[in-house]
Amino acid sequence: MTAAAGLLLYCRAGFEGECAKEIANAANEAALGGFVRSKPDSGYVEFVFHEPLPAEKIADAVRFRDLVFARQMIRVSAWIEQLPVGDRVGALLPAIASLQTRFSEVLLETADTNEAKTLSSFMRAFAKPLGFALKKAQLVDAHNQTLPRLHGFFTGSSRVCIGWSYGHDASPWLMGIPRLSMPRQAPSRSTLKLAEAIAWFLTPDETQASMHEGVTAVDLGASPGGWTYQLVKRGVAVTAVDNGPMDDALQDSGLVEHVRADGFTYRPRFPVEWMVCDIVEQPIRVARLVAGWIADGDCRRSIFNLKLPMKKRYDELARCRAAMDEICRAQGVHSVIRFKHLFHDREEVTGYAFRSDATPASRKKGGRRSDQ
Ligand code: SAM
Repeated sequence: MTAAAGLLLYCRAGFEGECAKEIANAANEAALGGFVRSKPDSGYVEFVFHEPLPAEKIADAVRFRDLVFARQMIRVSAWIEQLPVGDRVGALLPAIASLQTRFSEVLLETADTNEAKTLSSFMRAFAKPLGFALKKAQLVDAHNQTLPRLHGFFTGSSRVCIGWSYGHDASPWLMGIPRLSMPRQAPSRSTLKLAEAIAWFLTPDETQASMHEGVTAVDLGASPGGWTYQLVKRGVAVTAVDNGPMDDALQDSGLVEHVRADGFTYRPRFPVEWMVCDIVEQPIRVARLVAGWIADGDCRRSIFNLKLPMKKRYDELARCRAAMDEICRAQGVHSVIRFKHLFHDREEVTGYAFRSDATPASRKKGGRRSDQ
């Protein structure tokens, strides 16, 4: 594999500033020389290396999983400008062959903006001749998943960035967007947010192991029940805390207890595996609430939403993360806290926290509580 000229990160349009800050900080900490190139509302950010870097150096420095605002990260080989309309494939093939590897898959993508979406019919039509030419040149081996994936990121029908990604260090989804269909029985579209969070933060094995019959959960700010639905459909028994009404069908499942209470003061009588929280509140309040549950052993895992303010979103998230770390550290609790700006998130990010040192059953009764 040749060296990379930079990194291309896809993000939600309007979040280029956060995405740029994040990659610049990560690159700076790892002493990767380079600079950010980005345009407001473009839906992507590029980090250009001062000189091409080998794959291992990048892998040690920047891990896709640690980036909050990037939906996808690809290593950039080159931008190809002015593809000839009559023979785009002919112009692309030498650039792809120069990467000196075969690929497990070819992904033709655009930014997630209305402007870029106008390219979708062109890309559908172009995928066929390109796929045929790559196959003929034996550059694709779909049976070998250890090979990198080839990305063609189009910003116009004659301008494309050629890059590659590895399955273990990138989003598995085309354009970094999961295709989730809205379950008919779910009472709100919010359900997709928790569905995506589960798919993003947990492996299928972790989901299976932590969400099944016999497991208990608390859903704070549960009404009308979109998040509760995701837990109940996996057999989890849920205490749904909200003054608002819960969906009738969910209540009939026999797995839901509706408690009309304030989510900021409610605590369960016995520790639960999961606490999920979708209360619209100041992010720092929610962050402290979640960390308190984890530190006190009231739950082992949590998925929660932080609604970020329009300005200083990046700084506010850093403040929330630091507050959570501090609360856990003060009680000697080891926790892992991760965030992602999911496709279904708008002015918010989703967090996943879990207590890595003990089960909730080890909660010290009568011990100090970290409620704010
Ligand atoms: N997750 C829900 C779903 O999927 O259907 C949607 C939750 S909605 C975004 C936020 C909910 O938080 C509202 O139903 C509201 O009543 C509730 N809420 C707001 N403040 C609360 C509090 N202090 N305690 C409990 N619930 C609260």
